[in-house]
Amino acid sequence: MADRTGIEWTDATWNPVRGCSRVSEGCRNCYAEIMAARFSQPGQWGHGFAEIVGRGDSRDHRWTGKVALVESNLDLPLRWRTPRRIFVNSTSDLFHEALEDDDIGRVFSVMASCPQHTFQVLTKRADRMARLIDGPKNHQAWHPRLWHLPNVWLGVSVEDQPSADARRRHQGLAQAPAPHPDRGRRRHRHEPAPDAEL
Ligand code: SF4
Repeated sequence: MADRTGIEWTDATWNPVRGCSRVSEGCRNCYAEIMAARFSQPGQWGHGFAEIVGRGDSRDHRWTGKVALVESNLDLPLRWRTPRRIFVNSTSDLFHEALEDDDIGRVFSVMASCPQHTFQVLTKRADRMARLIDGPKNHQAWHPRLWHLPNVWLGVSVEDQPSADARRRHQGLAQAPAPHPDRGRRRHRHEPAPDAEL
């Protein structure tokens, strides 16, 4: 969680969800996965969510598949009075399949309670986002207006033309290009700034 960030297009990051899993080629060099694995000792923020696997030259970083809402982070934007552009889940994906609709609804509920901020949500799971935003609702507890907030920018991150074409099916959603998945290039759209406090 960072009330300042090195990402030029946002003012702060907010991570109400922890953990993720790879979903496309664009996840190959996931910086969040690397950082979570590096901080995966007991008591550290990545514990249980990622791990270091292999040894020597085959040493690598892997998500464990665990994804969870972080209750202690949930209300953070409510405490920020000065308006900010807030990058939501710089180290995860809000529309991850392991999350319940209600989990995502709780994040949207916080965003609805903070009209002073602009929330920037990027996902690689465009299908689920579209289903939740515009599809039939099986989450009756949440008012339909909750999913259409003027202070929430929804976007899909893409790594190449095929992923852009596939995710473009959801017309009206912004698209954010992610850097080419190159081993030497670690930063991508779902990543914290180097100084980000997670
Ligand atoms: S955080 Fe983003 S880039 Fe990393 S594994 Fe999840 S969806 Fe992929």
